[in-house]
Amino acid sequence: MTTPLVDRTEAARAKALAWIQQGSKRLLIGGQWVTAASGKSFEVINPATEQLLCHVAEADSADVDAAVLAARKAFEASSWAAMSPHTRTRSLLRIADTIEAHIDELAAIESLDNGMPLWFAQGAVAATVDIFRYYAGWCTKVLGTTIPSDGSTLTYTLREPLGVCGQVIPWNVPVLMAAIKFANALCCGNTVILKPAELACLSSLRLAELVQETDLPPGVINVLPGFGPTAGAALAQHLDVDKIAFTGSTAVGKQIVRDATSNLKKVTLELGGKAPNVVFADADIEKAVQAAVKTFCSNSGQVCSAGTRLFVQESIHEQVAERVAQVAATWKVGDPFAADTRLGPLISARQRDRVREYIGVGQEGGAALRLGGNAWNGPGYFVEPTVFDNVKNNMRIAQEEIFGPVLSIIPFKNEDDAVLQGNDTTYGLSAAVWTKDVARAHKVVKALKAGRLWINTFGESDPAMAFGGYKQSGWGREFGQESIDAYTQTKSVMVRF
Ligand code: NDP
Repeated sequence: MTTPLVDRTEAARAKALAWIQQGSKRLLIGGQWVTAASGKSFEVINPATEQLLCHVAEADSADVDAAVLAARKAFEASSWAAMSPHTRTRSLLRIADTIEAHIDELAAIESLDNGMPLWFAQGAVAATVDIFRYYAGWCTKVLGTTIPSDGSTLTYTLREPLGVCGQVIPWNVPVLMAAIKFANALCCGNTVILKPAELACLSSLRLAELVQETDLPPGVINVLPGFGPTAGAALAQHLDVDKIAFTGSTAVGKQIVRDATSNLKKVTLELGGKAPNVVFADADIEKAVQAAVKTFCSNSGQVCSAGTRLFVQESIHEQVAERVAQVAATWKVGDPFAADTRLGPLISARQRDRVREYIGVGQEGGAALRLGGNAWNGPGYFVEPTVFDNVKNNMRIAQEEIFGPVLSIIPFKNEDDAVLQGNDTTYGLSAAVWTKDVARAHKVVKALKAGRLWINTFGESDPAMAFGGYKQSGWGREFGQESIDAYTQTKSVMVRF
């Protein structure tokens, strides 16, 4: 007999709260849960209720030093470096199985900490299971090459791990971000120090506990909740960190690059986006509308790849705009644990106020407010789905990453106009095209400057499909073969007979 949904939700919330309230949360360094060297901690607030959830130890540069030492020791230890790839595969598979057994609990922790609806969090945690299984398969396939020679030499390459990898992640879908970064680094044989955002770090801590329950040697993963300008910057600047992988805003990404010059550590950046979602007149309009609403409303718009600029061909513009507003109006805002909630709160009062400010900017700039525009005064940092119509692509609301449930509808004339306007942004993370004309679909995706594209769908993901940005949306790729390249380096060897 299956457990009724309401009971399953309640059980998950109770389990998550029990874990959250069971003592203050610490840093993971060298396999031990420790308090911060400074003794400091910060408060974690539930964004749906504005109530205190718990205190978490606050890492800064002294803790970063300790974690780097532990990660270096683990990297050099034979228990990790000399581990057979097959054993590493089994290790990542065990992590996947452990997470799978805790999907509801991890998802409820994420909902309490970040505010996302439980159904969305459950999907995110389920995706982390697939990610660990995907990277488990890679462990035995990190291959070198042999290079043709005249027979008097043997020349070959080895692909080797980079070493100690610093990883800085944001608050928007932390459990997924942590899993992507852990799994990718570990499958290549690196060790990691993860710094989650202080606004939502609990799922990373619980994930690390679950990973610790498997047989990873101590120091292979270290987790340091703390603030960006202190703990994050110390990691990016550290002389004994070999790589820094960052997900977050473009402004901080640029700072990470400057800090990484300290020892020329390798850098990968997954930054912001302002994705064009292009709907031609011959598209399946209802499917395009449903997907357009889903992409700008999911996780209350706090998604880097969200389709926040909806380009609609002029002849169907009025029809699509009206239907988008109708559908978005049905996306209910409320308690993340209620079964019918589609949007939870934003992460913080600051983020809510920032989004509210952008809504004001849109109105003052002359965009037509077709739906929403209201933020609740609390408790909780809620903003309604908001649709602006007849937006000009050069308006701030169409150029800047708002990170809230705000859509800009922009009419276009023809293919050339859609491509010109779609590419007219500093970002290039993702894009989509809706049309029944196969030739046009491929022509337009080729012309759009973005790292991940969809045709007649939006937002679907597969860990085998590279993800990352053109232009100021980032450097390097996560997922797929490219992500293996990003966590390894090549050694070339010549043997003379
Ligand atoms: P940030 O880019 O500031 O934060 C992302 C991560 O970087 C956090 O862990 C943060 O720490 C850390 N960080 C901040 N400053 C530094 C630094 N100098 N060195 C190292 N690490 C640092 O994003 P915000 O949280 O401030 O959000 C602002 C805007 O950025 C959003 O509104 C959105 O537009 C965009 N954004 C994009 C994301 C994406 O996925 N592409 C994700 C998050 C935000 P901490 O916050 O704990 O201080």
